[in-house]
Amino acid sequence: MELILLGPPGAGKGTQSKLLETRYGVAQISTGDMLRAEVKAGTPIGLEAKSVMDAGKLVSDDILVRMIQERIHRPDCAKGFILDGFPRTVPQAEALDRMLHNTAVDLDAVIELKVDEAVLVERISGRFTCATCGAGYHDKFKQPKKPGVCDVCGGTEFTRRPDDKAETVHARLEAYNAQTAPILPYYRAQGRLHVVDGMAEMDEVEAQIEAVLRKIGVPAAGA
Ligand code: AMP
Repeated sequence: MELILLGPPGAGKGTQSKLLETRYGVAQISTGDMLRAEVKAGTPIGLEAKSVMDAGKLVSDDILVRMIQERIHRPDCAKGFILDGFPRTVPQAEALDRMLHNTAVDLDAVIELKVDEAVLVERISGRFTCATCGAGYHDKFKQPKKPGVCDVCGGTEFTRRPDDKAETVHARLEAYNAQTAPILPYYRAQGRLHVVDGMAEMDEVEAQIEAVLRKIGVPAAGA
């Protein structure tokens, strides 16, 4: 299965793509996570990307296309992948089409998670994650069961993304509307775009995505 999850920051792409990774046995590829790993490791790409990411803007197409080109050919993508955060511009979408065409792989679907903008700022600005295992939490919607202790691994250190600050979130939404939203008509014209209500509860969103995948004939792992 080759799938793209599209939607503004805070739409739930990360959460849903991780759920689908487990259910369909394919690789979840988050370009945001890949870039944050480069920043953490202090690589040349990380050094170039950091200030752009902190400002809520988009890193260059050239860097992202090279990263994805290498990533989708790793062995864990043998059964397919879910892209979370790529493509984010029309040139990235076109480059992905060329890559897939060259490897004779067909994109199954592009799923847009639709969420009202007012909700996104609240969703994003309260996010935090366990520094040890990466489990995600939220100030308002999902506190750890025992305050200050991760439900999953018992870790007691938590981190917040620097670009989740309210000021930066507005810049990220602007980048989405100006540079990423034009991808939607691109995939609609290809007949690949499916829209899911990202305002629904997490389980309901997952069920809607699975319904789309069933409709287009993608079986779940073990099904
Ligand atoms: P995300 O974790 O998907 O919200 O991405 C965090 C940040 O990484 C974005 O705000 C961008 O600065 C950068 N980024 C991630 N994916 C891309 C992409 N496909 N193209 C350009 N910049 C990206």
